[in-house]
Amino acid sequence: MATTETYLQSQLEDRRKRLEAAIASPAANASLTALLVEVDAALDRMRDGSFGICEECHEPVEQERLLADPLVRFCIDHLSEPQRRALEQDLELASGVQRALLPPHNFSADGWQIHYCYEPAGPVSGDYCDVIPADGTGEASRDVFLALGDVSGKGVAASLMMTQLHGMFRSLVGSNLPLDQLVGRVNRLFCESTTAGQFATLVCGRASTSGAVELCSAGHLPVFLLQNGAVRSLGSTGMPLGMFCAGDYPVESIRLGTGDSLVFYTDGLTESLDGANNEYGFRHLAHFLKGRHSLEPESLTAACLEEINKFSNGAPQRDDRTILVLRRA
Ligand SMILES: [Zn+2]
Repeated sequence: MATTETYLQSQLEDRRKRLEAAIASPAANASLTALLVEVDAALDRMRDGSFGICEECHEPVEQERLLADPLVRFCIDHLSEPQRRALEQDLELASGVQRALLPPHNFSADGWQIHYCYEPAGPVSGDYCDVIPADGTGEASRDVFLALGDVSGKGVAASLMMTQLHGMFRSLVGSNLPLDQLVGRVNRLFCESTTAGQFATLVCGRASTSGAVELCSAGHLPVFLLQNGAVRSLGSTGMPLGMFCAGDYPVESIRLGTGDSLVFYTDGLTESLDGANNEYGFRHLAHFLKGRHSLEPESLTAACLEEINKFSNGAPQRDDRTILVLRRA
């Protein structure tokens, strides 16, 4: 028997014991008995080999749904109308929670201007985008933290991990750690709390009032620096978060002068496809940015998205897209 099924069998047997104990108590109600019938039916399906097979289309039910609820009997395409409505409501709620975690779209202080666009492919997104003005006392207290990340996978599971990343980052930013240590700590926490195969790429920056910017990238796509009429790509310095608990995250220090910009983005943007399945690509984006040094963050993000939409020419958006521009005013 497959490991997963052995695990699910032990889960079902455990639920059975708990239900029996609950049914024996004076406060028991009929719903417990109905659940016990369902658990026994699932154990029967394990015995006759039909467990995990959709009763409508006879295709396997999604593994992650079985792990979350071993009583499911239908694949996601064959849910009943009330089940489908409940799922849609859960997604709407999750989407609202996620939108509420986003920072304000425009930020302007201490010589910095920031604007970002966040476009999930579905109701929820696996992209992480954050702008956090540091609070506290001292010179470092006026730094601004930026973070842009992309969690592996899609849908609800990825959005939950994005939420987790948001919480870790927000709680650690206040600790005034050097950037490399901050990312190292987020990596360890993330590593310990995710299962194998789940990881996230992340690039974060700390912009100080002097125009100095520190960048640290955990396996994320290159950031573009628009400076002196040229576009330079700044590559990643570390492994994605959650891949290895150990690992260094070297920091790259740059300085932005008036009118210089940094462009951060997720692969949903550069991996956009046209109707013939050609990928847009990050070189294409670098080329597009070249003639647009003078644009302010809001106009530049809008121009990039318009360019991608023109390239896609009506092909559906397959992945979550985020783009953030930091500019020295
Ligand atoms: Zn089905």
